[in-house]
Amino acid sequence: MPTSATTLPRHQHHIGGEQVAPESGEYIPSFNPATGRPWYEAAAGNAADVDRAVRAARTAFEDPRWRGLTATRRGRLLRRLGDLIGEHAEDLARCESLDNGKLLREMRGQLAVLPEYFYYFAGIADKVGGEVLHTMDPAIFNYTRREPVGVVGAITPWNSPLLLTSMKLAPALATGNTVVVKPSEHTSASLLRLVALLDEAGFPPGVVNVVTGHGRAAGAALVEHPGIDKVAFTGSTETGRAIAGTAGSRLARVSLELGGKSPNIVFSDADARSAAMGIVAGIFAAAGQTCVAGSRAFLHEDVHDEVLSLVTERAAAIRLGDPLDDATELGPLALREQLEKVRHYVGLGLQEGGKVVLGAAEPEGLGDGWYYQPTIFTETDNTMRICQEEIFGPVLTVMRFRDEEEAVALANATSYGLAAGVWTRDLARAHRMAAAIDAGTVWVNTYRAMSPLSPLGGFKQSGLGKENGPEVIHEYTRVKSVWINTSDEPM
Ligand code: NAD
Repeated sequence: MPTSATTLPRHQHHIGGEQVAPESGEYIPSFNPATGRPWYEAAAGNAADVDRAVRAARTAFEDPRWRGLTATRRGRLLRRLGDLIGEHAEDLARCESLDNGKLLREMRGQLAVLPEYFYYFAGIADKVGGEVLHTMDPAIFNYTRREPVGVVGAITPWNSPLLLTSMKLAPALATGNTVVVKPSEHTSASLLRLVALLDEAGFPPGVVNVVTGHGRAAGAALVEHPGIDKVAFTGSTETGRAIAGTAGSRLARVSLELGGKSPNIVFSDADARSAAMGIVAGIFAAAGQTCVAGSRAFLHEDVHDEVLSLVTERAAAIRLGDPLDDATELGPLALREQLEKVRHYVGLGLQEGGKVVLGAAEPEGLGDGWYYQPTIFTETDNTMRICQEEIFGPVLTVMRFRDEEEAVALANATSYGLAAGVWTRDLARAHRMAAAIDAGTVWVNTYRAMSPLSPLGGFKQSGLGKENGPEVIHEYTRVKSVWINTSDEPM
């Protein structure tokens, strides 16, 4: 709920290069998940704030200081931004860790690669061009221009604000767009710090604006705003569907990175230890709050018991605690609501007949933080709700399979299609599985690998469009076909 009188630091919107107070005068407290206490307040944006930000972005889009910049110069700004992120890595990492409870250790790792996202797109900026095409008439010179789409509205979730926003900002800016970002109401702090670095890097005011606030107020107003040419969304499938409906009805472009229920499949010829470690990292990293969490493990019947026991043993040894402590392996859930959701699903799993071999409880002695133990269910059936619905917490379901055909059928029997892991030493099988699995990313003998150079994006209910890699350029550009009559004859 918005608060009024408070001693907490207050963060304003960032519009047109300035800090702007919310029109409503209201602010939303943001909580540190490790303590359960608020540590700052962010402006509660509404439609008036969004309108102001979209106008600032439109003005910047038309401004020769941005529009007149060569693509090589845009690349230079992105490179400078990457350098600045590197220089401020520790501050950014700490800030996000305080905001969403991610391990500081993991955030440091993320910050070590985050500049690469801006460097990659800095390099791509002046390689984006059109084509010369042959038409049926030799007198016609036909070519295409690849142009920016205009003003982009980016809406991001709380689980990885810096990374997920950078995946949108870097290609959007490389191709000459301007942006209004609406971060999650739970985690605005790290993004506001990043935007200050954009100013420092020399991006003209208004090229990137941030309106903080709730989804139903600021987020919805952004999607509905006629000045937004494209919506780039990362979040839940439910919200993504609503956004696609609204944006689609006014023919705005939309790209969606949504939820998942990703399988991790272990064949009998796999290196059991590596597979077990991959399963543990796949589901328990970031307390299971990653879109690509490998939440369903499918183990071949010949190695089921061995792999399950390795997974359980390692998961039982995971050290829970303060995310700022380097020795911690599992931090708290990011939100109180998330903790309640995990409790709810664990209860449901038990009612559905799942057997708990680990966890299913909150740890003791960790104060008021929103911690939950790594939890493993066996004797599950793929139709159970805990095997079908995204929990977004440290909960793994384990099932056995007999052969490759059954593994594929089980893995694909979900409405999601974000990612999958396959563990095998058989090269031919690895390729067969990669082709047969209905997911946007397939990892073989690894899990959670990611790079700005490689496309990321879900199939089915996990999304629409791609982020990263050369593919994403299509999401942020529009193509114009130009026909020139090179003869002196009128046509
Ligand atoms: P969410 O859908 O609740 O919220 C995401 C963002 O949308 C927030 O900024 C929120 O304020 C905003 N929002 C909510 N309702 C809105 C509306 N009606 N109109 C416009 N904006 C609205 O998701 P979350 O709980 O913040 O994030 C967790 C979800 O994100 C999980 O489902 C996870 O799988 C998904 N996710 C996907 C990826 C991916 O790359 N596929 C990455 C990370 C997270």
